[in-house]
Amino acid sequence: MADGMTANEVFHSHSSLTYDDLIIMPGFIDFGVQDVKLQTQLTREITIQAPLCSSPMDTVTETEMAVNLALLGGIGFIHYNNTIEEQARMVRKVKRYENGFITDPIVLSPAHQISDVDSIRERHGFSGVPITEDGTLQSRLVGIVTNRDIDFESDRTITLDQVMTRDPITAPKGITLQEANRILRESKKGKLPIVDENGILNSLVSRNDIKKNRDFPEASKSADKQLMVGAAISTRPDDRTRLAALVEAGVDVIVVDSAQGHSVFQIELLREIKATYPDLQVIAGNVVTRDQCESLIDSGADGIRVGMGPGSICTTQETMAVGRGQAAAVYHCASYCRSRGVPVIADGGIRDIGHIVKALSLGSSAVMMGLMFSGTSETPGEYFYQNGVRLKRYRGMASIEAMDSGGGKRYFAEDEQVRVAQGVSGMVMDKGSVRNLVPYLCQGLKHAFQDIGVKSMTALHGALKDGKITFETRTQSAQREGGVHDMYSYEKPAMGARERVE
Ligand code: IMP
Repeated sequence: MADGMTANEVFHSHSSLTYDDLIIMPGFIDFGVQDVKLQTQLTREITIQAPLCSSPMDTVTETEMAVNLALLGGIGFIHYNNTIEEQARMVRKVKRYENGFITDPIVLSPAHQISDVDSIRERHGFSGVPITEDGTLQSRLVGIVTNRDIDFESDRTITLDQVMTRDPITAPKGITLQEANRILRESKKGKLPIVDENGILNSLVSRNDIKKNRDFPEASKSADKQLMVGAAISTRPDDRTRLAALVEAGVDVIVVDSAQGHSVFQIELLREIKATYPDLQVIAGNVVTRDQCESLIDSGADGIRVGMGPGSICTTQETMAVGRGQAAAVYHCASYCRSRGVPVIADGGIRDIGHIVKALSLGSSAVMMGLMFSGTSETPGEYFYQNGVRLKRYRGMASIEAMDSGGGKRYFAEDEQVRVAQGVSGMVMDKGSVRNLVPYLCQGLKHAFQDIGVKSMTALHGALKDGKITFETRTQSAQREGGVHDMYSYEKPAMGARERVE
C-alpha cells in the first residue's frame, strides 16, 4: 500500500479542504538547503526570486512595503483606496528607487531660513539639507546646510544663502553605491549629493545609511533594472483612468481586484486592457473554480489569483456562503491553469511557513499575504500600545471602516445604501521589519523543499503533476498533535518579534 495519496486522490472527494487539513509526506534528501532555489513565475512573463506577494490593502502595501519586498525578491501590490495621483505616485517612487540613494530628499532654497532646517530636523530627525536654486529636486544644486553651518547661530531667521556651504562635494549621477560610500568615508562628510552633468540635483547618499546599505542580489527587477511593482484596480468604469495613470507611472503588473472575479465587468476589462496595452501583465481574480479560471484566461489573464473567503480579516464565507476551502481552491484552479500555462497566486489564509509550503505544493506559483506582512514596520500606519503590547491596525478592504474610505470597490458595494461588510478591522502585533521576516520565510521554505526532496519550484510542480509528492488528510487530533501541546508555557519564535504564549 502506498504512503499517502496523490493530490488528485485527495481532492477527488470534493471536500472543501484547507491547508490545515493536509500534511505532506517527506521525500528523499540528496542536496543541501543552499541548493534550493525559490525563483518562480508570477505571471506568464514575469519571474520573481521569491514566491511572496503582499496584498493590495490599505494597511499593507504602499511604497515602503513594495520597495522592500522587491529588494528581497518578492513583489508588492499597491492598493487603490486612494486617489489616482496618490497610487501613481507610489508606483513611480518604487520604480525610481535606487538602493542606498535617497531619490526624493527634502530640499530647500537659498531664500529659506535656518528655522526651516530646524523644523525638518524636528519632524524627520535629520539635518544635512541640499540647497537648490528654486528649492526643488531637479533644480541646480547651489550648496548644502548641515548642523555645523547653523548650530551656533542664534538668529534663526537668517536665510540659508548666508550660512550654507557652497560648492559641496558631489558625485555624478550613475555612480555605484560602493563608490558613493567610499567618497563619503574619505571626505568624512555626512551627505553626498548626486548631480547630473548640468549640476541638477538627482539624489542624495547619507552617511547614516552606510551600515544599512547592503546588496540585494535577489531583487525583483524589470528589464530596465528598476524594482518591480504591481498595483490593483477595480472593475469599475472610472478605473480605466486609474489604469492609464499606473501604466504611465511604469507599473509592471496589474491585479484586477475583485472578491468574485467571474463577472462580465472583469471579462470586459481584461479584453480592453489586452487590446490597449498588449504588453502589460494582468492578474485576474479572485476565483476558486476551474470554470472561472477558464473564462478569465480566455479573456487575456496572465496570472490567476485564487481565494474566496480564506483571508484572516474575511467574513465572506460566513456572510455570502460562497467560496471554497483554500487548499481545494488552489489545487483545482492550479491544475487547470497549468494546462493553459498560466501561474496561480494563492491569496489569503497564510498564517505560517507551512501554509506557504502547502499552497506551493498544491500547484500555486506564489502566495499573496496580508496578515503575514501586517504589523511590520513597512506597512502604512502608526504603531500604538494597548496593555503594553505594540500594535498596528490591520483591516479587510470590505470592513465598514475601509469601505467608508472608499474600499468597497472590490465588492461592487461602493454605492449601496445598506452595505454588508465582508471583512473586519482590528489590530495585530508589531512584527518588526520585512527585511528580517522575508529572509526567515525564504530560509524556512528552502528547508521545507529539502524535506519534500525538491530543489526548485519547477521540480515541486513536476512532482505534483507526476503524483510523486503525496499527502494525507489530518484528523482534528492529528492537527492538535502537529502543533505545540501540553506545555505549561512556551516561547513561540514569532517571525520578527518574540511572542510569549501562556
Ligand atoms: P490574509 O493574508 O489571510 O490576511 O488575507 C489577505 C487577502 O484577503 C487579501 O489579499 C484579499 O484577497 C482578501 N481580503 C482583503 N480584504 C478583505 C475583506 O474585507 N474581506 C474578505 N477578504 C478580504
